[in-house]
Amino acid sequence: MKFDIVTIFPAMFERPLAEGVIGRAVERGTVDLKVRDLRDFTTDRHRVVDDVPYGGGPGMVLKAEPIFRALDAIEAERGCPAAVILTSPQGIRFTQAEAQRLSRLPHIVLLCGRYEGVDERVRERVTEELSIGDYILSGGELPALVIVDAVARYVPGVVGDERSVAEDSFTRGLLDFPQYTRPAVVELRKAGSADPAAVDITRLAVPDVLLSGNHAEIRRWRKRQAISRTLARRPDLLADAVLDDEERQILRELQDGGDDGRD
Ligand code: SAH
Repeated sequence: MKFDIVTIFPAMFERPLAEGVIGRAVERGTVDLKVRDLRDFTTDRHRVVDDVPYGGGPGMVLKAEPIFRALDAIEAERGCPAAVILTSPQGIRFTQAEAQRLSRLPHIVLLCGRYEGVDERVRERVTEELSIGDYILSGGELPALVIVDAVARYVPGVVGDERSVAEDSFTRGLLDFPQYTRPAVVELRKAGSADPAAVDITRLAVPDVLLSGNHAEIRRWRKRQAISRTLARRPDLLADAVLDDEERQILRELQDGGDDGRD
């Protein structure tokens, strides 16, 4: 899958895209990603990418023409992209479902705004606007990184074990079940409230079922945990969740039992 990112801060992408599963995918070429410096598409000596807003007011606006030229260059070099995405707090909300949809496209361009945003006419060449949440960041670079990371996880070969993508929170509309790793018991030390020198030690054990070796029971326990957590923390997700018969049964039991979902 191809990504092109247009930014005035290309250095912001260097380390984040060099680490972990995304770093490996970029290195191997499973994800073919190019970061373009918007200043390379200016024509003046000072490589100006921004200007004051027409009509007055604070701040600066990214100019349309360098962005158009960057898009022309990307198209000439890599073909017409399937999507040109403007990162924008005014866009539709980026979700796991959006990530999955975008992962099926062969080539995506991401435009990173800065300052007060981009000249409105840039939207003529944008196919969609995506927001990563209801807050304002100083630029589109972090949103672009968020989008690339979440989308690339769905590209075959990026995450080693595809089951882990399938089981992640949100993939099916359920939060993930709790995970434990060795050792089987860890000690939690808390300073005593009365005597600061005294230390309370609590031994925290892994739930027995996970040590039982009984795979059917483990599977059922995990389903129950995932559903009870979703019910407690994000009941809104259950409306669209894709549940199998066993999960629907567990959900009914939890709802009937008035379980608060904490365990
Ligand atoms: N004045 C603009 C915000 C500009 S923030 C407005 O109110 O709409 C500068 C740039 O940061 C934006 O152009 C966009 O590219 C990026 N950005 C900021 N917050 C974002 C968010 N929540 N999601 C996606 N991009 C965001």
